[in-house]
Amino acid sequence: MANRLARHLSAEIQNKQVQVSMISDTDFHLYQPGLLYVALGLEDPQSVFRKHSRLLVPGVNLIASSAIRIDTDSRSVELQSGENVPFDYLVIATGSHPDLDAIPGFREAAHSFYTYPEALQLRQDLEQFKRGKLLMIVGVPHKCPVAPVEFMLIYENLLRQKNLRQQIELVYTYPLGRLHSLEPCAVWAEQEFADKEIDGEVFFNPETIDPKTKTVYTLEGEEVSYDFLVAIPPHQGAAIIRNSGLGDEDGWLPTDRNTLELLGHQGIYVVGDATNLPISKAGSTAHYESEVVVRNIIREIHGEHPMPLYDGKVFCFIEGGLDKAMHIQFDYNHPPKPSDPTEMVHWFKMAFNQMYWLSVRGMV
Ligand SMILES: Cc1cc2nc3c(=O)[nH]c(=O)nc-3n(C[C@H](O)[C@H](O)[C@H](O)COP(=O)(O)OP(=O)(O)OC[C@H]3O[C@@H](n4cnc5c(N)ncnc54)[C@H](O)[C@@H]3O)c2cc1C
Repeated sequence: MANRLARHLSAEIQNKQVQVSMISDTDFHLYQPGLLYVALGLEDPQSVFRKHSRLLVPGVNLIASSAIRIDTDSRSVELQSGENVPFDYLVIATGSHPDLDAIPGFREAAHSFYTYPEALQLRQDLEQFKRGKLLMIVGVPHKCPVAPVEFMLIYENLLRQKNLRQQIELVYTYPLGRLHSLEPCAVWAEQEFADKEIDGEVFFNPETIDPKTKTVYTLEGEEVSYDFLVAIPPHQGAAIIRNSGLGDEDGWLPTDRNTLELLGHQGIYVVGDATNLPISKAGSTAHYESEVVVRNIIREIHGEHPMPLYDGKVFCFIEGGLDKAMHIQFDYNHPPKPSDPTEMVHWFKMAFNQMYWLSVRGMV
């Protein structure tokens, strides 16, 4: 967003009519999709980071600080230092965050790969796991809806490569009545799991986990034991959203589904996981949304109204193991149709993992 705005408004920035600032509580950018590969020992952990200073184009002013409150009345953002940053236009892209306390016992018992430290820990401990039952539990909503399925399929392939498959039982669970929230993906996953002898259980809503007995208790009344637990907890919006009195009880921001304005707030937009839109929380969603928000902010600067340009477009690669992948594309009006998994799509995904850094610079 910041890079695109700075490129499109370079003349106004040079004339000092416009300033573009990005507030971030980290001084680096994390490529979160890479965490799947880090956790499975397939990617160098250092490769998923780049310093913001290497990614931002000239014209973007980086404010490396945590923001603690958005004041929509005075149109300013308060930083942890106490400083207030005024704005004419604001883009909120504060993401979604796993709620590690949503399931009692999670912190002690479970491994995950949705944050960098968890992915590193999982990588280390999975390497030592040679026999027993690996159980995956999933809470909704969570970002990248396909990552838990991808984890199971890639891990299963790795086990076969290492001749460990017979010693490790794989069980995947999902809280809804099918294996994935998107029906076509659920149908595909069901077939893949059947072929690979991965047990899939539905209507599985973990209530508590007992780390001592290694048991998951569900709202449905089941007690399921495990030897190794991988869990994706349900996500929430960023703390600042609720601290600012914005958003619903889970911290998602009410967003116009086509213009991407924060409802009731002219000149304030929401991008990516932070919205309450009924679409996948995915990097590609943020990418397509950012194109619309850049156009709308430029329109507003030029005295025009925002246009309802976002159609809900999402695009995802889905890894089906170590050597095949497929892709899906969908929007508000068109459901996903999974393509046939091929080796070529897998290699395209691998290439995209590198090309991503060009995309962040706004070059692809
Ligand atoms: C394991 C995994 C695999 C994934 N795979 C894919 C994939 O294959 N394809 C895909 O499209 N998507 C994938 N995703 C999802 C994708 O990474 C996210 O949907 C995307 O990063 C969302 O972008 P965002 O800008 O909304 O939020 P984020 O990228 O999370 O960025 C939010 C930023 O806001 C900052 N922030 C939050 N609060 C504050 C504050 N108070 N002050 C200052 N800064 C703040 C955070 O530090 C963060 O840098 C995956 C995610 C994970 C975890």
